[in-house]
Amino acid sequence: MSATDDNTTMSPAVNGRATIACPFCALACDDLSRPVHNTPLSTEQIPCRRAVTGFNTALSNGQAHPQIKGRDCTLDEAVEHARQLLQNARLPVIHGLVGDLQDCRAALHLAACFGGVVDHRSGDTIAEQLSVLQDSGWQITSLGEVRNRADLIVIVANRLDETHPRLQEKLFSANGRLHAEQPAEVVTLADKRVSILGEVRALFHQRPLPDASEDARRLHRKMADARYPVILIGAVDNESTELVLRAASGLVRDLSHERRAALLLLGGDIGSVSAQMVAAWHNGFGIRTAFNRGYPQQDLQRNAAARLLADGEADLMVWVGSLSEQRPPAVEQPTIVIGHPAMAFADQPPEVFLPVSVPGVQRAGFIHRADGLRMVPLTSIVDSGLPGSLDLCRQIAANHFANGVADAD
Ligand code: SF4
Repeated sequence: MSATDDNTTMSPAVNGRATIACPFCALACDDLSRPVHNTPLSTEQIPCRRAVTGFNTALSNGQAHPQIKGRDCTLDEAVEHARQLLQNARLPVIHGLVGDLQDCRAALHLAACFGGVVDHRSGDTIAEQLSVLQDSGWQITSLGEVRNRADLIVIVANRLDETHPRLQEKLFSANGRLHAEQPAEVVTLADKRVSILGEVRALFHQRPLPDASEDARRLHRKMADARYPVILIGAVDNESTELVLRAASGLVRDLSHERRAALLLLGGDIGSVSAQMVAAWHNGFGIRTAFNRGYPQQDLQRNAAARLLADGEADLMVWVGSLSEQRPPAVEQPTIVIGHPAMAFADQPPEVFLPVSVPGVQRAGFIHRADGLRMVPLTSIVDSGLPGSLDLCRQIAANHFANGVADAD
């Protein structure tokens, strides 16, 4: 892929107009107008309801207070209480990671210093993808490549409008395509996707298949005629991500003997691609890596945060989530929340709440785009006075080492 092909998200200056990037879904669009100071955004200014909600919520919540058990306290008191909980924990789970690159680094710093396990809130999906990659590899492409070159896009995903609101506008329209005047043909597989993809594969191999479904025969014909078919995989409901991915990657591998073909994997959740990239870069493995033996050890099943918490193997949860005000899951273990300042806990406050600045609104940062091929810079729009997650976690760990524990990082 050449850099000039990748115009799915536009450059930070469009027609001479400064633009900003949006961190509120995995598309990380970087063509938005900078909000006017102290003025709520509208969908006329930003063509995405989800972005408008994300920016407005962050812009109007810059003044949250640290809390211990639901009661306001000073930052130093909250940091000290968090340190004590982490220091006394047998196996803390650092979970959520609904944030940008800095939030992921913060989570890994805590895990390395206090002997914890890191896992994203969409760790199941990431682990299923990773096991396919480790077993057989895959041929993937970028959003820009699909926009500019693909002539057939097979959608294997549910709720795309909800998970990636502007995908339609960016990927499926013909406007501005570099290498084709027509938009790509789009086929959506609604259900029985594993078996349809398997049948198509069998048809390409000319295996006897008397009961092939009409959907499979139709898709086989379209794929046989296509110059550059792409299978887009997002969140799949009612089917195993791993099985869908195995079927799709096998089909793409077969097709690639004769023509160009690829998978487009859309990291479905906020921060899921960043979490995997940053963790792999930091420890060589990725998420679901434990540091409690003094060295990183990945186990995609055993180190699942939800399992460790449900089975009582973990005795503390630290939730890192600067890009979503959604509360962490209720667990029996005490919880430290390093999170979005608009988080509200009703009558179940965590042991410690440390509000942090929201990347892309209250501080600068970086986030990986859904296809994993571009790291998008995030701009600071307003100064909230809230700490950044990495500084905060370093402060928690510094107190730990100041109390006589050797530096494990
Ligand atoms: S599609 Fe996603 S990244 Fe793009 S503006 Fe909407 S919420 Fe933001």
